[in-house]
Amino acid sequence: MNNSVENLYGTRFGGGMRSWRWHLSRVMRLFLRWFRLCLRRGRRKRPNRVRDLWSYGTVLMKSLYYNVQTNSDTVLDCVFEPVYWLVDNMTRWFGVVFVSLVITLTSSIVIIVYLCVLPIIFSTYPVHWILWHLCYGHWNLLMLVYHYYKATTTCPGSPPQEKSDIPTVTICKKCIVPKPARTHHCSICNRCILKMDHHCPWLNNCVGHFNHRYFFSFCLFMTMGCVYCSISAKDMFLDAYNAIESSYQTPPPSFTREERMLQKSLVYLWVLTSSVSVALGSLTLWHAVLISRAETSVERHINHRERTRLKLRGKMFRNPYYHGVLNNWRRFFGVEKRSDWLTRVLLPSAHLPHEDGLTWDCPAYRSNTVVI
Ligand SMILES: [Zn+2]
Ligand SMILES: [Zn+2]
Repeated sequence: MNNSVENLYGTRFGGGMRSWRWHLSRVMRLFLRWFRLCLRRGRRKRPNRVRDLWSYGTVLMKSLYYNVQTNSDTVLDCVFEPVYWLVDNMTRWFGVVFVSLVITLTSSIVIIVYLCVLPIIFSTYPVHWILWHLCYGHWNLLMLVYHYYKATTTCPGSPPQEKSDIPTVTICKKCIVPKPARTHHCSICNRCILKMDHHCPWLNNCVGHFNHRYFFSFCLFMTMGCVYCSISAKDMFLDAYNAIESSYQTPPPSFTREERMLQKSLVYLWVLTSSVSVALGSLTLWHAVLISRAETSVERHINHRERTRLKLRGKMFRNPYYHGVLNNWRRFFGVEKRSDWLTRVLLPSAHLPHEDGLTWDCPAYRSNTVVI
C-alpha cells in the first residue's frame, strides 16, 4: 500500500517534477532555437542593409557626377538643396508679408500727406506752389500705384510647355523643357521665366520679360515720390523735431494731443521717405545701369564671367542684345515714336514689350567678337 502510494506519489510527484523540468527545458530549447534563428536572420540582414546603404550612396554619388560636365557648383547645389528649399519656401511666404508691408507703409505716408502736409501747404504756400504740389503729387501717386499693381499681377512669362520650333539654348533640368535664350529657372516660382531678372519679394513675383518695365517704373516713381515727400516736408520735419526736443525742457511747452500726433507723424514721414529714397534710389540707379547695358541681373554675372574668361584669351566679349544706350532704353520702354515717351513712359500704359521673349533681335557682331 505504502509502496504503491509511494510509487504512486513518486510517479505522480516524480512524474510531476520531470514534467515541469521537461517543460522548462523545452521552453529553454525553444527560446535558444528562436534566439539562434534571430541571430542568423540578423547576420543575414545586416550585410544586406550595409549593402543597400552602400549601393544607395554609390548611386547618389554617381548621380552627383553623372557626366563630365558636372562641376563642384552642381555638387554644392545638390548638397545645399534642403537649405535652398527652406529659403525658397520662406521667401514665398514672406512675399505676402512684404507686399502687405509695402501697401501699409505707402498708405500710411499718403494718409499723413493728405491729413498733415497738404493742409500746411494750403495755408502757407502761394497758389502756384499749391497747384504744383497737387498736380505732381497726384501724378506721382497714380503712376506708383498703377505700376506696382501691374508689376505684382502681370505674369513675367514662361516658355511654352508643348513642343515648338522656337530656337532654344538649353534644357531646364527642373522643368525638363527647352529654354529659349535669356530664360532662367526661378526656384521660388518653380518655373522657367522669360528674360528673368530676379525674384522680387516686395512684389511676390518674378521680374521677367512682361513685367520688367512695370517693376522699373514702380522703383523709379516710388523713389521720386519719396524724394518729393522728403524735400517738401523737410521744413515741417525740422519744426516738428525741434518741438519734440523742446518737450524735454523745463517747464515743457504745452502741446495739445493733436499737435503731438502731427509732430510725430511728420517725423515718421520724413525718416521713412528719406531712408527709402536712399535705399531704393540706389537699387533703381543700378537697374538703370543694367538697362543701359541691355543686361538683366542674371546676365550681369554671366556676362562678367564670360568677359573675364575671354579677356584672358585676348578676345573681346560683346553683349549680343546691346543696341546702343538710347536704343536699349527705347526697346525697354517700348518707345517707337517720340510721342510714346509721353504716352508710354510718363503716363500709365499697358502696351506689350518690343519682343515676344522667345526670340531676340541681335545686332550684327564685329569680326573679332565672341558671343555666348
Ligand atoms: Zn525651369
Ligand atoms: Zn520667381
